[in-house]
Amino acid sequence: MSAATDQSLILDLAARVGEAHVQTGEAAQDYTHDVTFLQHDLSAAVHPATTEEVAAVVRLCAERDLPIVARGAGTSLVGGPVPLAGGVVVCLDRLDQLELDVANTVAVAGAGVITARIDGLANEQGLMYPPDPASISMSTIGGNVACNSGGMRCVKYGVTADYVVGLTVVLASGEILRLGGRLRKRSSGYRLQQLFIGSEGTLGIVTEVIVKLIPNPRYRATAMVGFRSLEGAGAAVSRVLGGGHFPTALEIMDRYAIDAVHAVLQPPFAPDIQAVLVIEQDGHDFEQVQTALFGMVELLDGADNRIAQSDAERERLWHARRNFGKLLMEMPYNRLSEDVAVPIGSIPEMLRRIARLAQESGIRICTVGHAGDGNLHPSLLFTDEQRPLISAVAGRIFRDALELGGTISAEHGLGVLKRDYAQLEHSPLAMSLMRQLKDLLDPRGLLNPHKVFPEHPADDEFLNHIPGWFPEHGPLVHRGEIAT
Ligand SMILES: Cc1cc2nc3c(=O)[nH]c(=O)nc-3n(C[C@H](O)[C@H](O)[C@H](O)COP(=O)(O)OP(=O)(O)OC[C@H]3O[C@@H](n4cnc5c(N)ncnc54)[C@H](O)[C@@H]3O)c2cc1C
Repeated sequence: MSAATDQSLILDLAARVGEAHVQTGEAAQDYTHDVTFLQHDLSAAVHPATTEEVAAVVRLCAERDLPIVARGAGTSLVGGPVPLAGGVVVCLDRLDQLELDVANTVAVAGAGVITARIDGLANEQGLMYPPDPASISMSTIGGNVACNSGGMRCVKYGVTADYVVGLTVVLASGEILRLGGRLRKRSSGYRLQQLFIGSEGTLGIVTEVIVKLIPNPRYRATAMVGFRSLEGAGAAVSRVLGGGHFPTALEIMDRYAIDAVHAVLQPPFAPDIQAVLVIEQDGHDFEQVQTALFGMVELLDGADNRIAQSDAERERLWHARRNFGKLLMEMPYNRLSEDVAVPIGSIPEMLRRIARLAQESGIRICTVGHAGDGNLHPSLLFTDEQRPLISAVAGRIFRDALELGGTISAEHGLGVLKRDYAQLEHSPLAMSLMRQLKDLLDPRGLLNPHKVFPEHPADDEFLNHIPGWFPEHGPLVHRGEIAT
C-alpha cells in the first residue's frame, strides 16, 4: 500500500461511494493481486453500488490523473486486475443485482454477479446460460465479459461474446454508454458492444450485462475414454468433430492430470493409459442423446471406455475434470498455466511439441484443456531452481501455437503476462488499429495501464524481468506461487 495515499483522495472517494466502501492499507491487500504471482500497491480500493457511483469514481480519478483498474473476483490467470501502476481499484462486487426475464429469455446482471448464479437461476425456469468457465462459481459476469471467457460447454454453445446482447459501460471520461438491450437480433450500426468484450478493462468499466438464455437440455450423457498416447487422444478429437458429431464438451487430461484426480477416478486407469477425453452429449430426446454418445465413443476408439450409468457417475467424471485446478494448486510446485489454442487438426502436433519441450527443458508440464475447441492449458510445474527457465519455456509454447496457426490466449486474455507476445500474433496494422481504438476511448491511458498492449519488444526472457519490471512504479512482489 502506498504510504503516499493522500487523505483528500480518501475523503473524495468516500463522498462518492460512502466511507464504509473505501479501503486502504492492509484492508485493501486482497485487491493488490490476482491468482498469479503478480502483486502491486494501490492507492485505494472502492466498492461502488451503482453505475452512477462507478462513473463518479472514474470522473474523480480522471481529474486527479489516477489509474483506474476494474476488478471482478480476481481469478485472472494473466495479471489482469493487478494495479501495476497503482491508483484506484474499482471492485464491482456490490453491483450484484440479478433479474431473470423469462418472457424475453434474457438475464440482466450487475457486473459483480457470480456467473454460476445466472445459470442457476435460469435452470429453475428450464433455461440455461451456457458459457461455463471452470471458475464459474468464483468469477463474475463482468470479468467474464472483460476476458471473453470460455469453458467446458463452449465446443457446442460458444463463448461469452456469443451470449451478450446488452452492456452498460462507464467510459474513461466518466460518461455512461448503454448498448443493446433485451433483444436477440440487431443490424443497426457497428457492433460496439463486441468492442468491449475481451477488452480486459482497458476500454471501459462494464457495470451491467444482458445475456440471452437458451432452453436447458433435459438429458445429458457422459463418458471418459482412455488412450495409450496423448497424441492419439488429440487425433481422436478431429475424428469426432470431422465425423459430423457435435458434442457438448470434449475435454482432454494427460497422465499427470489423471494421477492428480485418481482419488475420484476409481477404479484407477491402467498405467499404460496416457490420456483421457471426457465427452458429453446433451439434448431433449433421451434416445438421441445416448445414441450420439455411443457413436462418438466408438469413433474415439479408445483403450478404456467409461460410460456414466447414472447422474452420480456423470457428476463424478466431471468432478475429476473440474477439481483438477484445485488439486494442482495443492501440488508442491510453482505453477504457470498457459492457454493456447490451435486448429483442431493440429492438436496432436501441439501436444507432441509440448512433450518434447518438457523433455528438453526438464520442466514438468501437465496438460488439460478444452480439446474440442483446440484449447490446451499446459501447466508448467517447477521448483525455485528451475524458475529462470520458465519464461523461455512459456515463450516456446506461444511460438509453437502461433506457428501452427493458433493463438496465445483462447480464453484468459493477454493481461500483462502475455501482452508482449500480442505483436507476434497480430499484424502491425491490426496492432495499430487496436492502439488507435484505445487512444480514442482512453486518450490518457488511465484504464488498466500496462495491460494488453506490448510495452517493449517480445522477449523470451521477459518473465525473468518481472521483479522491478516497471521500476518507475515500484517493485513487483513475487508471491512465491504461480497460478494454475
Ligand atoms: C481455477 C480457475 C479456473 C479457471 N477456468 C477458466 C475457464 O475454464 N475458462 C476461462 O475462460 N477462464 C478461466 N479462468 C480464468 C478466470 O476465471 C476468467 O478470466 C474470469 O473471467 C475472470 O473473472 P473475474 O471476475 O475473476 O475477473 P478479474 O480476475 O477480477 O479480472 C479479469 C480482467 O477483467 C477486468 N474486469 C473485471 N471486471 C470488469 C468489469 N466489470 N469491467 C471491465 N473490466 C473488468 C479486469 O480489469 C481484468 O483485466 C479460471 C481461473 C481459475 C482460477
